[in-house]
Amino acid sequence: MADPAYGYAHQKERAAAIAAMVDGTRCPFCRKPMFKAKARLLDYDHVIPVALGGMDGPKRLSHRTCNRRAGAVMGNRMRGSYVNSPSFNRRRAPPKGKVANRKRQLPKW
Ligand SMILES: [Zn+2]
Repeated sequence: MADPAYGYAHQKERAAAIAAMVDGTRCPFCRKPMFKAKARLLDYDHVIPVALGGMDGPKRLSHRTCNRRAGAVMGNRMRGSYVNSPSFNRRRAPPKGKVANRKRQLPKW
């Protein structure tokens, strides 16, 4: 899925990063290898989410699924569809500045 928030420049950067990647490079999240042949499953994204001020920070390749999960853990609430999925809720940190949703008892982060 192409993220409409990113423009053509980002797509070019991502393509270049994938081209430069050595097959078998480890995903920074799950430590499993990544392959160019499965490039469509890879995300090229900010290490620090843009929502948290990471616009100018470093970027890296990772599995798309791993990246989406990590972004959510960091409190990136921009990723709405994933935030509302069951797999997200298992790992969810309490929303910042909101006390309204007290029904779910969550571990302290
Ligand atoms: Zn991974």
